[in-house]
Amino acid sequence: MDKPIFIVGGGLAGLYCALKLAPRKVTLLTAAPLGDGASTAWAQGGIAAAVSEGDTPESHAHDTVVAGAGIVDEARALSMVREAPERVRDLLKYGVPFDRDLEGHLLVSREAAHSTRRIVRVKGDQAGAAIIAALSDAVLKTPSIKVLTGFMTEELLAENGRVNGLRARNLATGEITNFPASAVVLATGGIGALYAVTTNPAQARGTGIAMAARAGAVIADAEFVQFHPTAIDIGRDPAPLATEALRGDGATLVNRNGERFMQAVHKDAELAARDIVARAVFAEIQAGRGAFLDARKALGEKFAEKFPGVYAVCRSAGIDPAKDLIPIAPAEHYHMGGIAVDERGRSSLEGLWAAGEVASTGVHGANRLASNSLLEAVVYGGRVADDIASAELRAPGFAQTAVRAIAPSVSPRERELRALMASNVGVVRDGEDLAQALAVISDIEEDATTLSLRNLATVALMITAAAYDRRESRGGHFRSDYPSPDPAKAKRSMLTLADARRIADAAVSGAHMIAAE
Ligand SMILES: Cc1cc2nc3c(=O)[nH]c(=O)nc-3n(C[C@H](O)[C@H](O)[C@H](O)COP(=O)(O)OP(=O)(O)OC[C@H]3O[C@@H](n4cnc5c(N)ncnc54)[C@H](O)[C@@H]3O)c2cc1C
Repeated sequence: MDKPIFIVGGGLAGLYCALKLAPRKVTLLTAAPLGDGASTAWAQGGIAAAVSEGDTPESHAHDTVVAGAGIVDEARALSMVREAPERVRDLLKYGVPFDRDLEGHLLVSREAAHSTRRIVRVKGDQAGAAIIAALSDAVLKTPSIKVLTGFMTEELLAENGRVNGLRARNLATGEITNFPASAVVLATGGIGALYAVTTNPAQARGTGIAMAARAGAVIADAEFVQFHPTAIDIGRDPAPLATEALRGDGATLVNRNGERFMQAVHKDAELAARDIVARAVFAEIQAGRGAFLDARKALGEKFAEKFPGVYAVCRSAGIDPAKDLIPIAPAEHYHMGGIAVDERGRSSLEGLWAAGEVASTGVHGANRLASNSLLEAVVYGGRVADDIASAELRAPGFAQTAVRAIAPSVSPRERELRALMASNVGVVRDGEDLAQALAVISDIEEDATTLSLRNLATVALMITAAAYDRRESRGGHFRSDYPSPDPAKAKRSMLTLADARRIADAAVSGAHMIAAE
């Protein structure tokens, strides 16, 4: 009996998982052509791995735990970083041209909150593009992998708590197909499109979380969203990114008056954890002083050669970073939360695995350490493949069917949702704003006439309910009404969609009672 394996997503997690399952047959579905629509392709920093002399996995794990603000699963973090050097070597075998010195040793650079230089890169800021190019090429040359591009997966098919297929829309024809599957791997990436300002590609809609939540899976740590402090503020959607490595190389953050504002905020100044820098940038902008990256002294004329990607973006907006300040703003960048998975990448539902940004493994806690996400995608993409290869898969029990459907149009409510998430569930949150957001989101979810809008509203509901429920500040989650961490709440959140709905109902009726008083 046929036991089809489906992987949804063509970023690092999906591609690597497909390669590691070879020669087993797999079908890889992606919304965009291979190489497009994946955050992986846009990664400018690189992969964190303790590969240089003097560095150790223990030190890498320590930095990961500190960044994660009290709720990192320490055993899992250590086991992930121990695997890092081996996975980097494996990526080299697939042809990823990581920078090396004349003797062939990997060159490493430093990023925020790492205690040492340990980021492996490609030509400065080209790591993501190089990874996607090499792995896409390898996938296309692997006969056991069937690639279906232009398919947006919108729903998981499940029976008695077991996922046995998926429903995907052919974006060109509008046709919807029910694919039977014995194993489904969600590797659909992040949630950026849920926010008005994001660094993620438009395909990062959090659909994987929505589908899994609607099928009954547990979603972990949904409230923890990382805002990148230095998106380049030139009015583009998505917002281009000025990599953290610029600050690693000495670029500073200044306001319109030329004052460095990070020194007064944290001892590590510009290299403090991302959430701290993002809130400081947000505060400068809110106060009307503006925020800018100043690379004139640290890099000057070397900027173009060291950071060609960022340089090109700046030049296209008429900015010469060797001479000018680069205007910046915080933008949704990474989601620490996601489908709760165990150390093998298994979700709480039989037949469903998840890897990469869509999953929550517990290694990032409340705040991801820079360049640990590509690492997590490759480690867990590999582990999911190993687990599926040794799992007893069950036959799905139905045949493939296709139904003709009308292609969805973008609803104006989608824009409303993005603006709401940015204003009420962003860098700084409070109970009142979150309750108000929950009322609107519940309404959008209930009235949605397309699966696409409904899925977006479902992810928004999971994030906002978890943020409402966490009455403290920790890592990427900052509540102005509860500005300190609460030691009693130093644990991960685990919610089903039914839990999130209960929180939303209570928040909305509580808000009504306050309004009536
Ligand atoms: C600008 C930028 C820079 C970054 N820099 C770094 C860095 O230097 N180091 C680091 O570690 N991390 C970095 N990150 C984060 C990192 O790139 C991502 O977390 C990681 O690449 C996620 O990999 P992934 O495979 O999980 O998802 P992605 O690479 O985002 O791939 C997701 C795939 O799923 C597809 N997809 C989504 N939804 C559906 C659907 N419903 N149906 C079908 N297909 C779907 C997408 O089209 C895409 O192919 C950066 C992120 C951004 C946005």
